[in-house]
Amino acid sequence: MVLAYCRTGTRSATLWALSQADKLSVSEIERTTAKAGYDLEAVVRRIANAGKAPLDVVEAEHTVLIVGGGAAGIAVASSLRARDPSLDVAIIDPADVHYYQPGWTLVGAGIFDAADTARTMASRVPRGVRWLKAAVVAFEPDSHAVVLEGCRRVRYQRLVVCPGIKVDWHGVEGLVETLGRNGVTSNYRFDLAPYMAELVKALRGGKALFTQPPMPIKCAGAPQKAMYLSCDTWRRNGTLHNTQVQFFSAGAVLFGVRLRAGTDGVCGSVRH
Ligand SMILES: Cc1cc2nc3c(=O)[nH]c(=O)nc-3n(C[C@H](O)[C@H](O)[C@H](O)COP(=O)(O)OP(=O)(O)OC[C@H]3O[C@@H](n4cnc5c(N)ncnc54)[C@H](O)[C@@H]3O)c2cc1C
Repeated sequence: MVLAYCRTGTRSATLWALSQADKLSVSEIERTTAKAGYDLEAVVRRIANAGKAPLDVVEAEHTVLIVGGGAAGIAVASSLRARDPSLDVAIIDPADVHYYQPGWTLVGAGIFDAADTARTMASRVPRGVRWLKAAVVAFEPDSHAVVLEGCRRVRYQRLVVCPGIKVDWHGVEGLVETLGRNGVTSNYRFDLAPYMAELVKALRGGKALFTQPPMPIKCAGAPQKAMYLSCDTWRRNGTLHNTQVQFFSAGAVLFGVRLRAGTDGVCGSVRH
């Protein structure tokens, strides 16, 4: 017995399909995977050929190929198309949802609703730009191609790579187990920012710790903004004087300017 796991299930479904290639008909395999929610049209040729089809089949080719439909990918695609509306541009991204991440600071401050920071990816892809809904699993720069989940290959003339930063929550021991409860939260996640707002609203004094990890991080200002906005809430509801606020930064400087030893922050002590 083999247990396969992958992020979306597509690679596991593909693996299963290829393992059944000499036992079941292609339509039986397709029916079974479709029932489980996976469209394996892209690998039908390989299944039909019992997994022996060559990997160098090119499914699509675009003049400009952009990996990642986040703020960067969408902005690059819009900018290129604005300058040349005839340019053949495609974005590859498996996500259904595009997030406006800077808004999470304001969600944590109780100013924005989390839902207002999320839009369907389809509605953000600029008109005329093709969206390939898949994850890139490998780069083949020598042949000007990327490989997608399901072994599809897409060729390009120019490649723009912007898959964002993956936050390493496991980098802090014990963090994953306690995030989202016990008064521990982060504005770096869509689902956790509302909990930040909840905690700030409920606090009636005590100790509030804000932390900033070492670079590279998504937004160098976000940890400080969380602290300033929280302090503003506590100032306005009259609890700031009861609250000891501390900011712990893994960096040696704040905003690229070296602090003088012993300098106090706006709301409390700044510690390194
Ligand atoms: C709380 C917070 C506050 C912030 N505040 C500000 C601010 O005030 N000002 C500011 O300028 N910036 C701010 N930022 C930073 C800003 O949001 C990011 O810099 C920006 O979102 C980065 O855009 P990106 O496209 O590089 O990455 P992302 O927006 O993270 O998008 C990456 C995309 O790539 C896709 N992807 C990942 N892997 C693959 C793959 N293998 N194949 C295909 N696609 C893939 C993902 O699905 C995603 O859609 C903030 C960020 C946070 C979290």
